[in-house]
Amino acid sequence: MEWEPVIGLEIHAQLATRTKIFSGASTAYGAEPNTQACAVDLGLPGVLPVLNEQAVRFAVRLGLALDAEVAGRSVFARKNYFYPDLPKGYQISQYELPVVGTGHLDIDLEDGTTKRIGVTRAHLEEDAGKSLHEGFEAMTGIDLNRAGTPLLEIVSEPDLRSAKEAVAYMKKLHSLVRYLGICDGNMQEGSFRCDANVSVRPKGESGFGTRAELKNLNSFRFVERAINHEIERQIELIEDGGEVVQETRLYDADKNETRSMRTKEEANDYRYFPDPDLLPLEVTRSLIEEIRGELPELPDAKKARFEADYGLPAYDAGVLTASRELADYYEATVTAADGEAKLAANWVMGELSGALNKAGLDITDSPVSAADLGGLLCRINDETISGKIAKDVFEAMWNGEGDADTVIESKGLKQVTDTGAIEAMVDEAIAANPTQLEQYRAGKTKLLGFFVGQVMKASGGKANPQQVNEILRRKLDG
Ligand code: ADP
Ligand code: MG
Repeated sequence: MEWEPVIGLEIHAQLATRTKIFSGASTAYGAEPNTQACAVDLGLPGVLPVLNEQAVRFAVRLGLALDAEVAGRSVFARKNYFYPDLPKGYQISQYELPVVGTGHLDIDLEDGTTKRIGVTRAHLEEDAGKSLHEGFEAMTGIDLNRAGTPLLEIVSEPDLRSAKEAVAYMKKLHSLVRYLGICDGNMQEGSFRCDANVSVRPKGESGFGTRAELKNLNSFRFVERAINHEIERQIELIEDGGEVVQETRLYDADKNETRSMRTKEEANDYRYFPDPDLLPLEVTRSLIEEIRGELPELPDAKKARFEADYGLPAYDAGVLTASRELADYYEATVTAADGEAKLAANWVMGELSGALNKAGLDITDSPVSAADLGGLLCRINDETISGKIAKDVFEAMWNGEGDADTVIESKGLKQVTDTGAIEAMVDEAIAANPTQLEQYRAGKTKLLGFFVGQVMKASGGKANPQQVNEILRRKLDG
């Protein structure tokens, strides 16, 4: 029997506001425990929450970018449960009326096609605190700095059909929230987190199987591994005559396995009701239009423009627009390289990205500026240096030895185009290899490559390869 996985993701994006969603306490990461939780975050008697306008604006930005309905009126609700890191005994969230309704996000599949993934909703809510287990003997520490941090929970339709599609969706959303400037996307710090709902069904069936929800997936790699592992577990279970139970499972990255945490709670376990301390949230048409006017160019539009204006292949355009910073760097490079768009794409995606990866650096920390990279490409283009020598120049630039012209000058790397000088080197190479010359003239013309190599070596890689080829051919044949 062939099985088909069905996956829906719930993603929590921490909104990049300076202060919390219902209080003026700081949201900065990494402070001493419990120094950033005020009376409102702690839910002390007599306090009242006041909604952070910036959090609402950020939610609307995402709604517009997902082509979703932004609700004119939405409602905050209390989600009641008991846990030590939840001081009030309830989390303020949105339930029946979320601020962002149905929308969609298009993802690129490996075969080059795109697939539209439905977004069910996105709602505002507050984060809980954190339980600390390390460094406590027979105790658990509670840090409430995170309590009240604004989150946007973005819920997808169960439209994803493989772990790869789930990762593509997550990456696309990650790129989008960063383009929009609403979330820093830092997954190690938990600013962008994912729960994956996974079920399987016989291929061809239209109904859904029972799902399990996987928690604790804090990297793209773990999302893919955990989902694949869960798909296999469910198929094996069903094929052995068992049944999947609806439950929450925790992914253990060290063991690469999921284990049951708790059976799935139903909505009525939470006793949701509208929070009487907060007025319904009203978002006017004029506010929506104001925010629409502030939206930056989004990834899909930028990608399409890169293909149209720079003549780039879809693949290149996709890679170069994955982040706004990379796209900006690329465009600045093209400008500095006198419009050599494809050459710039090759260098940004190849040499530069390789060096950044190796050094663990972000594009914004690149030791080689876009202006300097563009300058280097100009020297390739006007044949001052060959593409091969350019790699050495790049390395010197990376090591802080100056811009391309400085490095070419100080290292004497300028390409030799003087015909007389090249002829002399060619004569020398022919004279030094009489056997190869004889073989060449007897018909083994493949040896041209050997002679080219000899001349290039003699010139320290600086001879113009086209001229070397021409002159060699003429002399060998003559
Ligand atoms: P809950 O409120 O219990 O978390 P929802 O109905 O809101 O449940 O769904 C949560 C997520 O689970 C959504 O992303 C949805 O697409 C996904 N989902 C729902 N049913 C299934 C299923 N049978 N298989 C896989 N994913 C599912
Ligand atoms: Mg849920």
